[in-house]
Amino acid sequence: TPQGNTRSTAVLRTITEQIQIPYSGNENATFVTLSKNDELKNLLPTIKNVEERFNNRFHYGWIFLNDEEFSEEFKEKVTAEVSGPVQFGRIPKEHWGYPDFIDQEKAKYEREQMANDGVIYADSESYRHMCRFESGFFWRHPLLDKYKYYWRVEPSTRLLCDVITDPFKYMRVNGKKYGFTISIYEFYRTIPTLWDTTKEFIKEHPEYVHKHNAIDFISEDGGNSYNLCHFWSNFEIADLDFWRSKPYREYFDYLDKSGGFFYERWGDAPVHSIAASLFLDRDEIHWFDTIGYFHGPYQNCPEDELARKELNCACPAGPDIPQGFDINFAFQGYSCTGRWARMIGYPIPEYAANN
Ligand code: GDP
Ligand code: MN
Repeated sequence: TPQGNTRSTAVLRTITEQIQIPYSGNENATFVTLSKNDELKNLLPTIKNVEERFNNRFHYGWIFLNDEEFSEEFKEKVTAEVSGPVQFGRIPKEHWGYPDFIDQEKAKYEREQMANDGVIYADSESYRHMCRFESGFFWRHPLLDKYKYYWRVEPSTRLLCDVITDPFKYMRVNGKKYGFTISIYEFYRTIPTLWDTTKEFIKEHPEYVHKHNAIDFISEDGGNSYNLCHFWSNFEIADLDFWRSKPYREYFDYLDKSGGFFYERWGDAPVHSIAASLFLDRDEIHWFDTIGYFHGPYQNCPEDELARKELNCACPAGPDIPQGFDINFAFQGYSCTGRWARMIGYPIPEYAANN
């Protein structure tokens, strides 16, 4: 078996023994969820699951954001499930809508072209506002101002294993700034000019590119082209100060001005991932390999059997997972995590040696 997994299990055991129960998390951190009112039914079981698997021992607070007003029912039912303080925020108009430099006729035309190509969410305006918001604005919402770390949670996702140690503490103690569970290839059709726009930006600001970056995760040729790899941003545990930083703000503004959030369909996942891979030290990015996590149709599941047992994992083959997807996605061919593992020297399981 891969050495790294054995090692991580040993570390987990040591930490488990150290945990005192009852316990409460004391990091400067919050959960954050963007949701619509009509997603309540998908969100409640997700919150229950996060509480059972983690937060009922840590009691972190939870911020809910919406471009519309949350209903009373939403607020009541959500508040009843979270074991920490709950806050509801309305997204300001300037953070969710067309900037004045966008040609809305052109945007409409491009949506139709993309729809003809059968791309998912091709014709959706709200999806584009959402992606732009998650790229450039969620971290500017005043409710997040006082926090350093956040954990992003989406409706319908699941934690598949207990999270017995505090990931926020892990981030702080180890100087991590971006944490992910699943990585994957983007649909090229949604981002045809994203990489060229990024290259123009870093030509103007070569000083923003970290010397020990993770370019090898996102490019096969040292940065000439983008290989479409990105961290799946429906799960993120990250340091808000990274998004607040000058390089990221300027990068977002540059991308925004180019119009690609609307003329194409740039996702916050590739935007976050490219920024993290270029501007951070690769050692500041962390794969939470032992956080079992499901967002349809893929799951991240600890490879090591002892770790799965220790953490009471409901994976592989977790609840609600369609046949064919009921395996650990991390080292499958369509995942980029094998590439990540090779880059950082994390052991690859034998079955995935060629992925
Ligand atoms: P996918 O994961 O890319 O298929 O996209 P989702 O449909 O899961 O949306 C991503 C996140 O944005 C989820 O947390 C949704 O609840 C949220 N979201 C998407 N569209 C809207 C919207 O129009 N308004 C609000 N308030 N939230 C949205
Ligand atoms: Mn989703």
